Amino acid sequence: MLLTKGFAEGTTLALRNTTITQTLAQIFGYHEFRPHQCEIVEHVIAGGDAFVLMPTGGGKSLCYQLPALHRDGVAIVVSPLISLMKDQVDALRANGVQAACLNSSLSAQESSAVMADLRAGRLDLIYVAPERLMLEGFLDFVRTLDVALFAIDEAHCVSQWGHDFRPEYVRLGELRGLFPGIPLLALTATADDQTREDVRIRLGIGHAPVFTAGFDRPNIRYLVADKRTPAAQLTAFLNGRPSGDSGIVYCLSRKRVEEVAGKLRKAGVAASAYHAGLPAKERTRVQDAFLRDEVRVVVATVAFGMGIDKPDVRFVVHYDMPKNIEGYYQETGRAGRDGLPAEAFMLFGLQDAMTARMLIENGHNAEQIRIELHKLQAMVGFAEATTCRRRVLLGYFGERMEEDCGNCDVCLNPPELYDATIDAQKVLSAVLRTGQRFGIGHVIDVLKGADTEKIRQWGHHQLSVYRIGEGLSRDEWTSVFRQLIHRGYLRQDIAAYSALKLEASANSILTGEIVLMLARPRIAPRKAEKKARRSSALALSDVDEGLFERLRDLRREIAAEQQVPAYVVFGDKSLADMASRKPSTREEFLEVHGVGEAKLERYGEVFLDAIAEG
Ligand code: ADP
Ligand code: ZN
Repeated sequence: MLLTKGFAEGTTLALRNTTITQTLAQIFGYHEFRPHQCEIVEHVIAGGDAFVLMPTGGGKSLCYQLPALHRDGVAIVVSPLISLMKDQVDALRANGVQAACLNSSLSAQESSAVMADLRAGRLDLIYVAPERLMLEGFLDFVRTLDVALFAIDEAHCVSQWGHDFRPEYVRLGELRGLFPGIPLLALTATADDQTREDVRIRLGIGHAPVFTAGFDRPNIRYLVADKRTPAAQLTAFLNGRPSGDSGIVYCLSRKRVEEVAGKLRKAGVAASAYHAGLPAKERTRVQDAFLRDEVRVVVATVAFGMGIDKPDVRFVVHYDMPKNIEGYYQETGRAGRDGLPAEAFMLFGLQDAMTARMLIENGHNAEQIRIELHKLQAMVGFAEATTCRRRVLLGYFGERMEEDCGNCDVCLNPPELYDATIDAQKVLSAVLRTGQRFGIGHVIDVLKGADTEKIRQWGHHQLSVYRIGEGLSRDEWTSVFRQLIHRGYLRQDIAAYSALKLEASANSILTGEIVLMLARPRIAPRKAEKKARRSSALALSDVDEGLFERLRDLRREIAAEQQVPAYVVFGDKSLADMASRKPSTREEFLEVHGVGEAKLERYGEVFLDAIAEG
């Protein structure tokens, strides 16, 4: 059931006479299904239950939204996040679909209006919070309705094995028994085998097929750089990108968030801070401004992003290393949900890894400590990888790749190895001669022949190693130190202010027994290709860049006026498609990616005008 024309109140009618491919184009404006969507949609329309495991951005919503339009009755979507509900409903309405939500953010009056719509069969989809749905009175009400299907989003929340267990999800297990014959879909982006099985059993759909779309996000480019001057490295990264692109910068602490946001603003970037310590009002403001493209960069703790459904996030930066790969994967997964090129850039500092280790070791539960240390180790392994990063990442989730990905920093710019035996000997000797009681900074001072208070005080300018390292820059020396630490020739003593100590294996280098090959340091995320100044959306095909930017401005104005996220108006991909096809008629406009009939009615004219002017 769906309004066929514009936004007029109309009769509801299940789409029996159109194919799902037609609906995909007419309503959603897409011209083909993503992997598995078609099978799932057909399976659910035919009345089947399903378990859907797809990475973030894989296109889970369509798996229940499209069947909702082809089956009689209202589809009930259970979702834990209120902000997400609202955005989904806005996006559906913009496509002419009758959708609404019921949650604690509605006034009594708004709630009863939604209830009346439900009673009258005027809705295609209703989003509800789990605790609301499972209220006895509400379930009785649902029983009187014609229900098209149940969809349980973020289904891993039902399992204690999952990383985000929510007690209010447990009772959803009763649905299968209470509503026999109505299809039930469970959808999630993260679940290992154990969680997956647990979710299926708990929801009573152990018999249902599992649709898995694989974890790879090929459009995300993974980049890691050694953390040296993080603020400058971040600014350089941002400056290397088109100014219209938006993204998220994750930091581990609130203090760091404030500090980084401040620095970016000083550098002229439209950045806002977001963390749990800010008043709710400010958090909502930042979130809305980001969705409307008024804020370009949100600097945040991991508190940000859960309820954010912005498909055109072009980059995610990890200013600090996350504690585990699950977190890293989830956070980077927020980039490029629209399938266009996006970047995940992480600054990796050994100091961060040591701090994380210390925090974990301060825990109480020995088993927990063991698990967390193991996960941290895997994360560090990813950061230090000298082989394809995607291999490391997917390998962690149990997926094997046939070939290197060609879209990570290691593939694009493989580390160059060189014979570093002499450099390493210089470092190790300097550590030894200064008594194994100083940190990296001071030992580099000695190598470089610096004139510091500390050097004079300790008489280190009289050592034979003084000024033997003028050939390399400080950054280059830091890299040598780090690699020696990673490889176990040197260690930093946490108990002694990170003083460097030689490990037994260092001897084989000092005596020249082995030849040591090290990677040349990597400071910028990419050297190979400096030209990526253009928006990644423009990678499509001959896109008129000026027009694209003007359409983006138009979108921003409309989004602000209508108080909706920018992507609800049109995604980047749609705008780029417009700026390339330059449609001049309504028919041509319908051909544009993401343009269905409702959007043609609603926005066709102003965008056609803008394109004609452009
Ligand atoms: P998730 O799996 O994270 O819930 P969404 O359902 O939000 O993903 O979809 C991510 C993005 O992909 C959205 O912008 C959505 O409109 C878009 N999308 C989904 N299916 C298709 C498709 N078949 N063709 C093009 N874009 C699609
Ligand atoms: Zn790779």
